[in-house]
Amino acid sequence: MKKIEVQHYSFLEKKPVSRLTHIGTLHPKNPLGFTLNTLALKNPLPLVENGSMVKIGTPILSDAQFPFIRYLAPDSGKILFEETRVVIERINHTYLDHQTFKNSELKKSSKKEVCQHLIQIGFWHYLRVLNTSNIPHPESTPSAIYISLENDEPEMPSADLLFKEKDAVSDFELALSALEKISPIIHVSIPTNAINLKLKLRKFITHEIEGDYPANQPGVFAYYVNKNESKKAWTLSAQDVIRMGAFLRTGHYPVEKLIQLSGIQTKGNGCFWIKEGTDIKDLRDSFNIPEDHEVTLGGLISGTYIQGGHPAHVGPYHSSLSFIEPCLPYLPEPMIDCIGCGQCAISCAVELQPQFIYKKIMASKPISQELDPCIFCGLCTLVCPSHIPLQTLFKKAQHS
Ligand code: SF4
Ligand code: SF4
Repeated sequence: MKKIEVQHYSFLEKKPVSRLTHIGTLHPKNPLGFTLNTLALKNPLPLVENGSMVKIGTPILSDAQFPFIRYLAPDSGKILFEETRVVIERINHTYLDHQTFKNSELKKSSKKEVCQHLIQIGFWHYLRVLNTSNIPHPESTPSAIYISLENDEPEMPSADLLFKEKDAVSDFELALSALEKISPIIHVSIPTNAINLKLKLRKFITHEIEGDYPANQPGVFAYYVNKNESKKAWTLSAQDVIRMGAFLRTGHYPVEKLIQLSGIQTKGNGCFWIKEGTDIKDLRDSFNIPEDHEVTLGGLISGTYIQGGHPAHVGPYHSSLSFIEPCLPYLPEPMIDCIGCGQCAISCAVELQPQFIYKKIMASKPISQELDPCIFCGLCTLVCPSHIPLQTLFKKAQHS
């Protein structure tokens, strides 16, 4: 096990390893579904007819341009395609049976067979290319796959809780056997202070990481293993690795997800098992959260902001949800230009000089590959006394 030390200035409170003890289960009352704009689809392509009957695990949506992206039904019943979402009105509780795998069978399978099966069972889209977050093409090969066991962004569920579940360790191992067919190099990291987890998962861990957010994000992990790794390596979350293993073992789409709820002043604040596709309304009702409270789905820093009163569902990529008081419309302060304080540079975990990249972008100068290691963690924006939206500018520059 190799050790990585990420030294940068992180003003965020250090996250304890075992953060929350409260675990509950929330049972949805409203139909499960997907909010279309939270899915990785450019040209959504329905795979079933509106109003038809589906089972849990039926492929329901793909992309006309990227057919290797498939989303499966999180519930069984009548499917309804609406303008901004897809919902399933539950009628019964039946699973579509997919093929099951044992470790020995996966070891004998070819890369092509494993890739095809992951596409078939709607699990390919959980794989992402560093640091673009693009879904990789199945015919491409990563330089390595990076899995960070702990997501150190604030308000994310602890890996300790994930691996307490029966079968979690063996499901993780089964999924690793599938991933090894895609990439013979798999790096798995753990924070240095995660003592219990280190003992439990010793045989899988390749690196331990010392440092604060975003030290344990896969993009930073990869940067410290190989500075040229961004855009060549792939990643997926530890929770999705476990879910992939459960799917391969049982043949049933694992719709349960561990999600951290926060920002609500109730004793229910904590981690909960919920079903993928749960309507946010169910969560509001469970905790008496008024309709006008805003929601952040996904991490507090990287998540998607949803205005109060708008319909939304917990999507495949969300493992955190924060309710926040209704805010006044954001009135940006007059933009003061960069004062050269250097705060952004000392915050950057991947040793970038955000102020110089910003100046190049503003001067319309080419930035070539300078932004490649950026993981869009947002720390530079948060520390900037001139309130320059560095992270947003960098994301736009990366996509232009
Ligand atoms: S968002 Fe800012 S702090 Fe974070 S990696 Fe990119 S340049 Fe560095
Ligand atoms: S933190 Fe803001 S003001 Fe300070 S150097 Fe960076 S971009 Fe400039």
